[in-house]
Amino acid sequence: MNAEQPLEARCDHCKQTRPLFLYEPDHNCHLVPRDCEWCDRDKQPLLCVRCWDQEREREENQPPTAEELALTEFFVGMSARTNRSTPEADR
Ligand SMILES: [Zn+2]
Ligand SMILES: [Zn+2]
Repeated sequence: MNAEQPLEARCDHCKQTRPLFLYEPDHNCHLVPRDCEWCDRDKQPLLCVRCWDQEREREENQPPTAEELALTEFFVGMSARTNRSTPEADR
């Protein structure tokens, strides 16, 4: 976050007049293309610190899609096989 004097205005979430910060999503690189509420927004909201933190938490806790889960499983399986071939890797 920059050290500039934040502007005070109405927060997009709680509608209270507070110093606001532009929300910037943290995950512009997805493993697979997906519908993402944060990346798909044309304009990020201006949020007070509290709402900003909530938004970041919500973004971080966003459940992975089926494709992402499959891909993760695939990578995990690959590295398991490279490290040591375990019989249970073959299903
Ligand atoms: Zn707020
Ligand atoms: Zn995203």
